[in-house]
Amino acid sequence: MSGIKLVKSFCILDSRGNPTLTTFVQTENASGSASVPSGASTGKFEAYELRDKTKAFHGRGVSKAVNNVNNIISKKLKGMNVFNQEKIDYVMKELDGTPNKSKLGANAILSVSLAVARCAANEKKVELFDYLGGFKGFPTPLLNVINGGKHAGNKMNIQECMIIPDTKSFNEDMRIASETYQELKSVIEKKYGRTAVNVGDEGGFAPPVNNVEDAFKLVIKALDNLGYSKKVGLGIDAASSEFYNKGRYELDDKKISKTQLLDYYKSLSKKYPLWSIEDPFEENDFETTALLNKELRGRVQIVGDDLLVTNTERVLESVKHNSCTALLLKVNQAGTLTEANKACRTAQKNNMKVVVSHRSGETCDNFISDLCLGWGCSQIKAGAPCRSERTSKYNRLMILEQLMKD
Ligand code: PEP
Ligand code: MG
Repeated sequence: MSGIKLVKSFCILDSRGNPTLTTFVQTENASGSASVPSGASTGKFEAYELRDKTKAFHGRGVSKAVNNVNNIISKKLKGMNVFNQEKIDYVMKELDGTPNKSKLGANAILSVSLAVARCAANEKKVELFDYLGGFKGFPTPLLNVINGGKHAGNKMNIQECMIIPDTKSFNEDMRIASETYQELKSVIEKKYGRTAVNVGDEGGFAPPVNNVEDAFKLVIKALDNLGYSKKVGLGIDAASSEFYNKGRYELDDKKISKTQLLDYYKSLSKKYPLWSIEDPFEENDFETTALLNKELRGRVQIVGDDLLVTNTERVLESVKHNSCTALLLKVNQAGTLTEANKACRTAQKNNMKVVVSHRSGETCDNFISDLCLGWGCSQIKAGAPCRSERTSKYNRLMILEQLMKD
């Protein structure tokens, strides 16, 4: 038994310059801390992110959430065994008492949940991934190299255009990703000029492309220049709830039906080496997602983010319809490590892949890298190979792979 002595939260800034929480948990012999990320294209069914909604920080302050940790959660957790993650998460869930953690805030609860795990790993003097389940292999990275949607100021509605290098080694994947990213910068600069190589929220470029095919062409040119076309697939996160309005999808200045959108994805998959599509339809539409999955079966991975929101019941709903072949796992959608783990195991038990994901608003905390290894998740999506809040996730995995080879 190693009792929790202190739980203390602070307000810090995330990669977009908005406030978020970092929380420290201490026992007699160890301590651990964790910081919370924040989404922009958030799903309707995610756990609730508590914001102050006062003048400070344009309403985005987290002082209520910080106070909830320091004055309410900390009192309840004092003396609890730091190794009893499930019980601690359960106690916080009960203390909140709402279905979506809206009373204490999922951001408050998650910061404690993750810091407890870090403290427990430190108490045991083991690496976090070991504490979370032990090494199960390195993931394939999905790197968002061209940003659109809510993450950029261009006209591309599709939120993310990703490259997926898939060699036998994580370091080799990241070398290819880095080289492609730099080559893409030159390709974009040649076509659109210097101002077009500014980057979006996730470190990918945000050139003035009109649609995702324009983006694909730029990426393919970069891959061709380097001779990597055969080694690298493409992925998109449509984040389609963001351009869904009253039964129509407002894509590339056209209003189209779900059937037309389905045909569009099919044509993209025929024309380009498309390996993965995330959130192809809006966040309630398990059926049309299942239809697309059936039509593309085996050729293209279908990932549920806003559709599944790291929620076990929604993963089971997807299994029932056969909608997704992969779960996008974001710890702050669930609000506790235990609930995220349950969603992960449910997906894996049902032969779905799990893609561990960052949020568009991030910190340099790389908890998800260890989680990816410990929970045996086969892919990680952490933005471009650029900007420290993104590379901190990839770097942790690069170092671990190099260490393991020594
Ligand atoms: C996503 O939609 O997959 C994503 C990472 O963006 P956000 O964090 O804005 O939801
Ligand atoms: Mg998404």
